[in-house]
Amino acid sequence: MTELISVNQALLQILSEFDTLPAEPTEISEALYRTLAEDIHSPFDLPLFSNSSVDGFAVCASKDLRAGTRGNFTLPVVGDIPAGMQTTLHLGKGETVRIMTGAPLPEGADAVLPVEDTNYPYRDASAPLPAEVIFYRFPMPGENVRPRGQDVQKGQKLLAKGRKLQPQDIGMLATLGLDRIPVIRKPKIALFSSGDELLTPGIPPQPGKIFDANSYSLGLLARREGAEVIRLGVARDEYQAVLERFEMAKNAGADLILTSAGVSVGAFDFVRQVLEEHGQVKLWRVNMRPGKPLTFGSYEGIPVISLPGNPVSAFVGFLVFVRPIIAKLSGLQPTPPVTVPVILEHPVLSDGRESYLRAIVYKSQEGFIARLTGHQGSGNLYSLVQANALLIIPAGVKSLPAGETVQAWLLDDEPLPVMEKPE
Ligand code: AMP
Ligand code: MG
Repeated sequence: MTELISVNQALLQILSEFDTLPAEPTEISEALYRTLAEDIHSPFDLPLFSNSSVDGFAVCASKDLRAGTRGNFTLPVVGDIPAGMQTTLHLGKGETVRIMTGAPLPEGADAVLPVEDTNYPYRDASAPLPAEVIFYRFPMPGENVRPRGQDVQKGQKLLAKGRKLQPQDIGMLATLGLDRIPVIRKPKIALFSSGDELLTPGIPPQPGKIFDANSYSLGLLARREGAEVIRLGVARDEYQAVLERFEMAKNAGADLILTSAGVSVGAFDFVRQVLEEHGQVKLWRVNMRPGKPLTFGSYEGIPVISLPGNPVSAFVGFLVFVRPIIAKLSGLQPTPPVTVPVILEHPVLSDGRESYLRAIVYKSQEGFIARLTGHQGSGNLYSLVQANALLIIPAGVKSLPAGETVQAWLLDDEPLPVMEKPE
C-alpha cells in the first residue's frame, strides 16, 4: 500500500495554494463577521463634544465656592438644552441651565446636577422650564460631564486590518459615520454532490436511492464559515454530467469548487477523471478516518476539493480542510480547531489513522468525560447529530483504555451537558 499523506501535511500543502481575496467596500449592515481590509482610524474625537451624562441642571462649578457642598441653593434657570441641540448660550457663574442626557454642555459649564437632587425632579423635556430651581447640593467640577475625547482621540487606530467584525465593531464604525466598510470579498464556493443514487428531498423514497444530505450539510457549513455558496445540485454518475457541473462552477466565478462523492475507486467515480483531464489531481487520500479518499486538485485553474460521499466523512473533511481554506481566503488566520482535554468513559479502538470519533462530552464531578455516540460508521449521520464533539485520536494509536485523556474538538457553542459518570 502506498504511504498516505498525514492530515497536517495535506493541510499545509492545500493551504499553500490559497491567498487572501481582494477587498471590496460593503454596506455597513452587511459587514458583520466580514474581515476588515484596512486599519480604521478615528476621524474625530469621541465623544464629539462635551455633554451631559444625566438629565439635570448645568453650572459653572470650578469658579463657585459652593462646589461640593450641601445645602439649599437657589439658582436662576437661564435656558434649556434638549439632546441634539447646539446652544450658543454662555453660562455665567451662579446661573444654571436645564440640560438633557447627551446634550452638549454650554460654554462656561463644567458640571451637571441630576434633576433628582433638585426641587424640580422632572425628566420630561416637555415639563415647563422653571424660572429658578433649588439645588440640594452643589456639584463638583466635572461631575456628570462626558468630556470631548474621553473615549477616543482623533487619529487613534480603533480597528486593525484582519479583524473579523463583531456587532460592537459595526456599532463603532457607525459611530464614526461610515456607511461603506472595506472588507475582504466573500469566498465563492460552488458545490455539487455526485451519484446516481441521490434524490432531492421532498419526494417519496425510491428503490435503491437515498436522499442527498451532503449538499445541505456542506453548503450550510460553508455559509456558516462566511462563504457565498453556489449550489449546483446533483451530478449523475456520467462523465458528461460531472464535467458540466465543473463548467457551471467555472462560469459562476467560483474561488473553490467543492464536491462530494465519486472520488473513491468505484467504477463510476468520474470526478477524479474529469480533474485529471481538465486540470490536475494534486493530492489524493489522507491518513484519516473518516475521510481518507479526500482529493485536492484543480479544474481549469480553479482549486477543487472533493470530499468522500459518506455524510460523516464529508462533514469531517470539511471541518478539517475546507474551514481553514475559507478562513485563509477571507483574510483570517486559518487556526487549528480549539480542543479541550477530556477523559474517555470507556475504551476506544482506532485503526492507526488519525481518527475523528463522534462523541458527547459532558461535565461530571470527575471533569470533562467523553462517550462515543453510536456506531462510528462513516455513513451514520445520526451519530454525528447526537455528538457535541469529535475526539481526535492521533495517527499510530490503535486503542486507548477508559480513563485515558484525549483532545476533543467541540462542535458547537452550546453549554456542555452535566451528567453523572457511570460506575
Ligand atoms: P462514493 O464516495 O461515491 O463512493 O459514496 C460513498 C457513500 O456515500 C455511498 O454510500 C453513497 O451513496 C453515499 N453518498 C454519496 N453522496 C451522498 C450524499 N450527497 N448524501 C448522502 N450520502 C451520499
Ligand atoms: Mg458514488
